[in-house]
Amino acid sequence: MSIVKTELITLDKIPDSLTEPFRVEATVLRLDRIHPIISGNKWFKLRFHLEQVQHNSNRRIVTWGGAWSNHLVATAAACLEYGIPSLGLVRGERPATYAATLKEAEDLGMRLQFLSRADYRNKLVPSGLLQDGDWMIPEGGYGELGAKGAATIASHFEQDQYTHILCAVGTGTMMAGLIQASGDKKKIVGIPVLQGAEALRNSIQELVDPAHTHWSLEPGFEWGGYAKHPEGLIQFMNEFYVLSSIPTDIVYTGKLIYAFLSLMKDNYFPFESRILLIHSGGLQGNRSLEKGRLSFG
Ligand SMILES: *Cc1c(COP(=O)(O)O)cnc(C)c1O
Repeated sequence: MSIVKTELITLDKIPDSLTEPFRVEATVLRLDRIHPIISGNKWFKLRFHLEQVQHNSNRRIVTWGGAWSNHLVATAAACLEYGIPSLGLVRGERPATYAATLKEAEDLGMRLQFLSRADYRNKLVPSGLLQDGDWMIPEGGYGELGAKGAATIASHFEQDQYTHILCAVGTGTMMAGLIQASGDKKKIVGIPVLQGAEALRNSIQELVDPAHTHWSLEPGFEWGGYAKHPEGLIQFMNEFYVLSSIPTDIVYTGKLIYAFLSLMKDNYFPFESRILLIHSGGLQGNRSLEKGRLSFG
């Protein structure tokens, strides 16, 4: 039943030349490989929602997102493949021309409804738009069912092989799943890509068993905030690709890898640490950059 190819997931080592001086090893879990659009963690966060709706013929999926949301377009693509109608509630007025993400969501059959920022914030949807049987997925796929799906990421690597797992954090849903799936012997470290780590910490706390304390957020690598991608970040992503052949995205995984190398250089990881970095996908978001700025695909 799976529409993504999880058999394409690989574990790619970060070149020893980068990590050896700090006496650690690092490996990247390439979830970006499973599907060009339903990429990386979005599939894992959606899978149990899709399962719920799949067996119910008069259901529709309704979800929320901004104009650049990977979650919206991933939901559109997954719904198309499952034959489930979808409605995207988009933050902000309808733009004169759609950016790549929105256009793609619409091309994939998602109906889009634009809400003013105030209405979006207050979750005010025009009356008549929603139907009985609509299956609502919160913004960014946040929530317990999403976290439960993200926890299944852990079946794609050997738990005992690693002392640390690092992931990029948007809503915190993927990180919550990884925390739930991991034993207390390993530490889960989240790199927020947007400002406001305190609120994020609370969002994650709400999704995980309070007995789990083996996790932390390491803010300071936002590069100005969500979807900000200064030249320095782009340059770093190009350099890292030359060294590792691993492509990264401007919103999440570029910041993740940069944060990892910075933390490593600050001796954040004890000697002999074995670190797993989650490549959570998002490469399609790079299309918003002008051509040629990235040296890879
Ligand atoms: C959405 C996304 C994230 C963030 O996931 P959350 O569960 O919202 O924290 C991380 N990486 C990529 C590539 C994403 O698209």
